[in-house]
Amino acid sequence: MPKSLITSPPAALRLTIDGDALAANWRWLRERGGEAACGAAVKADGYGLGARGTVDRLAREGCRDFFVSSWAEAAVLGPMPEGAALSVLHGVREADMPAAVSGMARPVLNSAEQVARWKAAAGGVCDVMIDTGMNRLGLRPEEAGVLEGLAIETLMSHLACADEPDHPMNERQLARFRRVRASIPAKRYSLANSAGICLGDGYGFDLTRPGLALYGGVPVPDDADQRRGLQPVATIEAEVIQLRDVEPDESVGYGATWVAGLPNRVAILNVGYADGYLRGFSNVGSWRSGDAACPVIGRVSMDLVAVQVGREVREGDWLALDRDLPALARTSGLSQYELLTTLGHRYQRRWT
Ligand SMILES: *Cc1c(COP(=O)(O)O)cnc(C)c1O
Repeated sequence: MPKSLITSPPAALRLTIDGDALAANWRWLRERGGEAACGAAVKADGYGLGARGTVDRLAREGCRDFFVSSWAEAAVLGPMPEGAALSVLHGVREADMPAAVSGMARPVLNSAEQVARWKAAAGGVCDVMIDTGMNRLGLRPEEAGVLEGLAIETLMSHLACADEPDHPMNERQLARFRRVRASIPAKRYSLANSAGICLGDGYGFDLTRPGLALYGGVPVPDDADQRRGLQPVATIEAEVIQLRDVEPDESVGYGATWVAGLPNRVAILNVGYADGYLRGFSNVGSWRSGDAACPVIGRVSMDLVAVQVGREVREGDWLALDRDLPALARTSGLSQYELLTTLGHRYQRRWT
């Protein structure tokens, strides 16, 4: 048989994305945003879960405003559903101009240079980012004079500390953004990301831009309301590709960092740091076989991890990773954002 006719065997690693949970999270965030319309950040390929699937699912719920970071991401994503718009957060470099003037998305202009570039090309309707204290992207409020003559759809700013509700930066940035709104004309104003939405009504303005919480992240894990309202979206499962018995005093994995006390049944799973199951889970992570916890033993390898299992587990069984992102973040020392965006490309992906 010619090689091209042999179908690729299924991966021993799968990622299931729960479209209903994604939609429920979006509706919860929309409600929390009060009067504001609710958009969706789908940069980094929808935080690792798939930008295209996310856009299509949320557009069906009524989401009309999507955000990617670059024109390369906009191009890969392809056309927006009817009535939906895409904004490119990093603005326009000279090299982006052909893509930008094609109208596939709106640039979010971040600097006087980008504004001049857009005006010189008679670029049309755009978004603008004003920096209200984060000192990342955006024009300083004092530079707003250069915006004269632009047709601004959404004027936005971004919060630096919204996941710390009591941080004084939040009110400082809110006050600055209110002054910006009073002095720079635009069709709509937008300040809040996921955590910003949870700060309360005053932060919603006309449009919110959640990312993390759509995908099952919880901005403030101690907040019972967020815990109740936001559901996990991603389920990760890995297949047992070998079982072994490890005798007392034998070690498991690179560096021999785990040594058996009693005899142990060990399952080797087809997942590793190349799949975003990073080394921070070594000796502290945990998987599930049904209801039974299967602790990670030894170091996580590139494509493999060893877990302790009971006698009922068989080669070919599938073990699942805990779906609770805040718990995974606490265990591994990674952020919830990192856990999602490092997932990698080796999963068999499925939307339900
Ligand atoms: C990434 C991003 C968001 C979404 O932030 P989350 O914390 O994931 O909700 C919103 N606005 C801007 C400008 C961003 O860069």
